Amino acid sequence: MASDTLLIIGGGPAGLEAARGAADLGCKAVLVEQRAALGGTPISAHYAALTHGMRDAAEVMGEMVAAVANDSLVDVRLGTTVTGITGAAGDFAVTLRRDGAEERVSAGAIIVATGFDHFDPGRATQQYGYYMYDDVITLTDAEKMLKEGKFVRPSTGQPPERVCFIQCVGSRDRHIGNEYCSKVCCGIASKQAIEIRERLPQCRVFIFYIDMRMYGYWENDLYWPAQEKHKVNYIKGVISEVVLKGDRLIVRGEDTTMNRPMEVPMDIVILSNGMEPSAGTKAVARTLGLRQNKYGFIDVAHDTLDPVTTSVPGIFVAGAAAGPKDLDDTMGMAGAATMKAVATIRRHARMTSAR
Ligand SMILES: Cc1cc2nc3c(=O)[nH]c(=O)nc-3n(C[C@H](O)[C@H](O)[C@H](O)COP(=O)(O)OP(=O)(O)OC[C@H]3O[C@@H](n4cnc5c(N)ncnc54)[C@H](O)[C@@H]3O)c2cc1C
Ligand code: SF4
Repeated sequence: MASDTLLIIGGGPAGLEAARGAADLGCKAVLVEQRAALGGTPISAHYAALTHGMRDAAEVMGEMVAAVANDSLVDVRLGTTVTGITGAAGDFAVTLRRDGAEERVSAGAIIVATGFDHFDPGRATQQYGYYMYDDVITLTDAEKMLKEGKFVRPSTGQPPERVCFIQCVGSRDRHIGNEYCSKVCCGIASKQAIEIRERLPQCRVFIFYIDMRMYGYWENDLYWPAQEKHKVNYIKGVISEVVLKGDRLIVRGEDTTMNRPMEVPMDIVILSNGMEPSAGTKAVARTLGLRQNKYGFIDVAHDTLDPVTTSVPGIFVAGAAAGPKDLDDTMGMAGAATMKAVATIRRHARMTSAR
């Protein structure tokens, strides 16, 4: 028997867009989210303003959640994970677990939208002192402070006078094994630098980078305004260590444009930590038997020409579960995955009725 239902695993931007798209096409969808709320990492990690347009993350995600929560074709299951699967494209039987109880649902196709985790800078880059010094924080910690409407030194509660970002923490790093670029951190550091300068005009802000990677409109929206309007200092350099001297952090490294060593005092150091596959992505890949790439992201048929088809027929992937993505990439991928998944369901329904 062919199933008329699309199962979507993960209720972040990718999963929400897939559910909305399926409903728009008149297809039933079951949306499974392990957390108690929809909205994905922008909500669970307390992001502040989202590019583009700098709209409040909770507001943007709230609109996406409302679009599916109010659609009778979408059955939302919170606090739920997938624990088993049998069958094949057109007729999968998937076991869901919630509060210790198991239930089987049928699905004609599946979209995996289980997203990413933030790289933990305490794990491999000890030289930056993330777990040692209160005033060394991550992009995510900074987002949370900006969302709360205050940006202060965690150690004193006072506004900082000097803040810097260190780019590529946990990305483009062969020693750690994450050779890939995480795509969003240059843009997000520039965004946060603008927000800090707007909030604290007396505070000097520096961004230490290997090279800045801005995609599409981020160049004009963030990169140039940060320098020209908000006077953020971009310094091409390699940072070797962060140490505490008195009550200030000292950032040591090399200014690679001037070709000379540098040692600069800072009140807050923000580590631009990149993206890794989420624990949920790796777990779902194991449960569904999906091939993962060398970094643990879900492998696809072709990164450029078919970025949504996985190694198992009838199972598709969208968003950061398949590699670092910004929201543009995530939404585009969710649309493509939905189109292929709904086409699979309809094709199997036609084959069944023709028999
Ligand atoms: C600090 C920071 C700021 C950012 N700000 C921006 C920005 O301003 N603009 C922009 O374009 N991009 C931004 N991004 C990128 C953006 O967050 C991602 O593009 C987006 O979150 C990817 O969406 P997703 O749905 O693929 O994954 P996620 O948002 O990670 O959502 C995945 C969902 O799947 C759920 N899940 C995981 N495993 C399971 C499982 N086994 N079972 C059920 N559910 C599961 C998770 O709980 C989560 O709800 C930012 C990233 C970072 C690191
Ligand atoms: S987006 Fe920028 S900070 Fe992030 S990994 Fe790529 S180059 Fe490094």
